[in-house]
Amino acid sequence: MSFPYDAPESAALFARACEVIPGGVNSPVRAFQAVGGTPRFMVRGSGPYLYDADGREYVDLVCSWGPIILGHAHPAVVAALQEAAARGTSFGTPSAGEVELAELIVDRVGPVEQVRLVSSGTEATMSALRLARGFTGRSKVVKFAGCYHGHVDALLASAGSGVATLGLPDSAGVTAATTADTVVLPYNDLAAVQAAFAQQGDSIAAVMTEAAAANMGVVPPLPGFNAGLQALCEQHGALLVLDEVMTGFRVGPAGFYGLEGVAADLFTFGKVMGGGLPAAAFGGRSDVMARLAPAGPVYQAGTLSGNPLAVAAGRATLEHCTSEVYAHLDATAATVADLAVEALSDAGVEHRVNRAGNLFSIFFSGIDVVDYATAAGQDVARYRAFFHEMLARGVYLPPSAYESWFVSAAHDDEAVARIADALPYAARAAATAGSLSPAPPTSEDRA
Ligand SMILES: *Cc1c(COP(=O)(O)O)cnc(C)c1O
Repeated sequence: MSFPYDAPESAALFARACEVIPGGVNSPVRAFQAVGGTPRFMVRGSGPYLYDADGREYVDLVCSWGPIILGHAHPAVVAALQEAAARGTSFGTPSAGEVELAELIVDRVGPVEQVRLVSSGTEATMSALRLARGFTGRSKVVKFAGCYHGHVDALLASAGSGVATLGLPDSAGVTAATTADTVVLPYNDLAAVQAAFAQQGDSIAAVMTEAAAANMGVVPPLPGFNAGLQALCEQHGALLVLDEVMTGFRVGPAGFYGLEGVAADLFTFGKVMGGGLPAAAFGGRSDVMARLAPAGPVYQAGTLSGNPLAVAAGRATLEHCTSEVYAHLDATAATVADLAVEALSDAGVEHRVNRAGNLFSIFFSGIDVVDYATAAGQDVARYRAFFHEMLARGVYLPPSAYESWFVSAAHDDEAVARIADALPYAARAAATAGSLSPAPPTSEDRA
């Protein structure tokens, strides 16, 4: 396809990047492979806007995939970082800021009695899985097709439609032995989970699920799904791990737990709690967390865990996530989603909008999206055209049809007006885009 405009500075940087960084990027979805064209190299962010190397301004609807909940370069976060940096960037000892961030998390999420801080969501899920296995003495983990839990080997059996059900790895370099203990089931299918427990309940250590799936586009749990998982886990002596790396502190102060009230045994957090720096956490019941080294036998560690800069950004961010901020996020997300629906309806483009709190995404599809199979039914060619028209008109959407859209506290009326102005053009571009047979996403379309 042709693209509405060139980005010569970004193109030059991308060419240089490709020489020294595989694929030119440090996380695959940034490369624009799913939408085509040149990835934009950003040089600056301010409030709801990003600025690229060619001097263009964009309303940002990615927000660093979630963390930038207050908007870019929020003054309180910048000040906290400057103060922390002046005191030293890493001590390799305990420090007060870690305790304060842990207290903020424990205060917000009722079932979380203790947390361990780590540096990425991947580390959080990997460690939670090890802890669940260490606690139960069992080996198997149930996960759901289309749910992303970072690039943990055992959890990369997931996205590849047909192979998913066989528990075969989705990525080269992940051995079948590593995923042999991973049971992959269709999302929102409680009967499948019941059957798995009936067959091998004695060997299932944990069920891990996104609190609301948002890495195959947004696919909220059907009413009773998460609660049903909790009941099955309890009945069979397995642990429920709710992955709130994306939803935690974003859809509300207590994350999706706060909206739904399903108390998992373990939770994982990331993204928002680091305020744009590398910080993540896993936590839950204190009797389970007590099995972690040095209190217990399950080893887990990190040179930069609880890093003073990351902790400072996280604390400043959580402290500024007031009820007014969440009300604004909810209202803004609803407005943007409704505007998109209106534009697509006017242009006669088949679509579905899915919402989970203030997370939402638009599927170019004529069928309801409740799991990975139905998500894969969308028309990605239409999304590509839609994406590029929005980009040309100064709105930065996720460069993949399988991702959530994110708003921030800084998305004001002017930012929303720019989105509203761009949407009818993008909807018409989607309407006229040639329909390709949908290609299911691979793990490369994620993260
Ligand atoms: C982003 C994400 C992860 C991985 O976090 P990283 O910090 O990228 O390692 C895990 N789980 C979910 C639900 C996520 O959205």
